[in-house]
This record gives sequence, structure tokens and C-alpha cells, in this order.
Amino acid sequence: PTPPEPLPIRRLQESLINRIAAGEIIHRPASALKELVENCLDAGATSVRVTVKDGGMKLLQIQDNGCGIRKSDLPILAERFTTSKLSTFSDLSHIRTYGFRGEALASMSHVAHLSVVTKTKSDSCAWKAYYSDGVLVEPKAGQTSDPKPTAGNDGTTIIVEDMFYNTPTRLSSLRSASEEYSRILDVLTKYAVHNPRVSFVCKKAGSSSPDLSTPSASAVTHTIRLLYGHSISKELIHIETSSSAHQTRKIDDMDEDDPIDDPEAWTAEAHVTNANYQAKKTVFLLFINHRLVESSRMKRAFEAVYNGILPKSSFPFIYLSLEIDPRSVDVNVHPTKREVHFLNEDTIVEKISDAIQQALAVQNHSRAFAYQT
Ligand code: ADP
Ligand code: MG
Repeated sequence: PTPPEPLPIRRLQESLINRIAAGEIIHRPASALKELVENCLDAGATSVRVTVKDGGMKLLQIQDNGCGIRKSDLPILAERFTTSKLSTFSDLSHIRTYGFRGEALASMSHVAHLSVVTKTKSDSCAWKAYYSDGVLVEPKAGQTSDPKPTAGNDGTTIIVEDMFYNTPTRLSSLRSASEEYSRILDVLTKYAVHNPRVSFVCKKAGSSSPDLSTPSASAVTHTIRLLYGHSISKELIHIETSSSAHQTRKIDDMDEDDPIDDPEAWTAEAHVTNANYQAKKTVFLLFINHRLVESSRMKRAFEAVYNGILPKSSFPFIYLSLEIDPRSVDVNVHPTKREVHFLNEDTIVEKISDAIQQALAVQNHSRAFAYQT
């Protein structure tokens, strides 16, 4: 058969390019929520309240009591690559906030109806703004417009409605509302465990009783008990280890603002279940530099540790917070790339595995001892 006539190459429309790019960043309501929660935490919030309709497809609303957004910043808030968190390339190597790419809100404005209510401490009223395709608009009309004064508390409320209304294929790739809602609850549950000082509340719109609710100023083990239950929390072992576990340098000598100048330094804190607890599947909460991430390599390594002490086909609960020098992990990974890799990964995973193994052995030993006496 003869090849077809070549078709002319055309430039894609800007709005179409943006919509496609946004779909790459925002996969589903739960991935939008993760970005929004990280923004609340970056803003120093101690309260994060989430309201959801139809698994987040109809409505995803996040209210925080953080620093708010300056009114003068609202016009460029949802533009691509606008951020308050990064200004020079060298900032990238010691970035301490979650965000820095300035893409989340922009993306949402391209695939959903986005509105923002925000108030800083020094504002006398709150301001409400609507966005479409990166720019301020009149609600439900295409005209650009200024933010409107409104009543509101200090902090920010982000309202995302009709997610993927303009990208039908993305919309049809979503599961049922209940499936999307359980993914939302999963993300919030994990962030709540990792941020026990922050109160998280999540409910369906119109419902008076929340499906998730944690107090502020709590502790990790309390939050785990509240969200994962007593059967897990009563079997937890607390483990702390670090690259300097065998070095002489004193922690007291270190200053928060003056981090040890060793790009290979790391610290790990974990809460893991002992041999008394057996689940059908591993529950693995992994935070690297306070970001929720995934690492199948780590998961496999830790499961191997438990292989020796748990009966066949039973698995542990593991919550691990790992902090490594931002220079050792590629912070510039694409937001959708959840699987992370970092410098000296094998050594670090091995050291943490050893620490878990030792802690489990000590406990097993004292248990045997308790039976004897
Ligand atoms: P990034 O977090 O990468 O900077 P985003 O698109 O998520 O990009 O947010 C853009 C900017 O909007 C942030 O840098 C921040 O200044 C502001 N912002 C977003 N959400 C909040 C919030 N909940 N509270 C205060 N400021 C916010
Ligand atoms: Mg962000």
C-alpha cells in the first residue's frame, strides 16, 4: 500500500497545550488534594478542613488558617511558574517548602473551575477571586476581573469545581466517586499522621459528621491510634537512626539554620509494628523531606526484614520519615513522579533495615524473657 499524503503540521493552541500539561500534573482529585494540602502546610496552617462532593469531581474545597495570600499577588496567582517559594536556581538545593514550581494552582485553573478566598492578618477583609486558564475572571463568564471583597477568616480557602469538565477523556478515566473519595481520605490520613500538630478534617458536602478528624497539637502515636486503630498502635516500636549514629558529633552543636555541611547526612524516624501484628498487606507510609512519596525498593527491603519474624503472607505497618540533604535528592522531579531515588539509597535503606531488625529482635527477646519469668 502507498503511504498517505503527509498532513500539514500546525501549532497547537496555547489553551490546548496548557490543558494537556495540566492533565499531566493533576491526575485525579486526590493528586490535586495533595498539592493543595502541601500549600496549606507551606503557609504554616494548623488547621486543614476539606469538603468533598462526588469524590472531588464536583467539588474539592480546602480551607486553612495559614498566612493567606497578599491581594496584590492574586492577579498572577494561577499563572504558570509563579511562586513565592523559589527565586534563584541555587535556592533549589536547600528548598524547605513542598512547592516551588508554581504549577499546581495554574494546572487546576486549566482543568477545573478554580476560586480562592483569602485573607492575610493585615487585611481588613477577605478577597475572593475566580480563575480560568491561568487568569482572573468574572464568575462563570469569560471576562477578566478584579478580586471582590468578602467576609472571611485569616487564611485561604481554595475551591476546585467540576474537575476535568473540559477534558472528557481524563474524566472518564476516573473511578467511581466512592473510589476517588477513599483515595482522598488515604492522602489526608497519611499527611495527618506525619503532621500530628495540624488538625485535619474531611467530610462530604452536606454531611455533618466528618469521615476523618484529628486534633491539633497531637503526637504521631496518638494520630496513628486514631486513624489506624488500637490493634496497630499498641504494637508499635519507635526507631530513630541516622548517618551519624556511630559518629561522635553532638546534635547539640548543630543549628537549625546552619545544617551540617555533609550532603550525605541523613536522619530517619520510624514507627513500625512488632511480631504481634499481622496484616494481609503492608501498610507503608513514606515521607522523604516531609513529602509523601513511594519507593517500591524500600518497601521490598523492609518486607524482607519481616519475612523472618512474621508467618507467611502476613505483613507489617510501617511509617517512616526520612530526612536527607536536599542536595542528595532530586527535588526537581516531576510532580507526578512519585517513585523517588536519591544519593546512597542502598546504604541508607540497608541501615534502616538493620535498625528495624535490631529493634524487632530486642523486643522478641524481651517477650521470650517475659514468658520465662
Ligand atoms: P508552589 O506551591 O509550587 O509555589 P502553587 O501553584 O501550588 O505553586 O502555588 C502558587 C503560590 O500561591 C504559592 O507559592 C503561594 O505563594 C501561594 N499559595 C497557594 N496556596 C496557598 C495557601 N493555601 N496559603 C497561602 N499561600 C498559598
Ligand atoms: Mg504548591
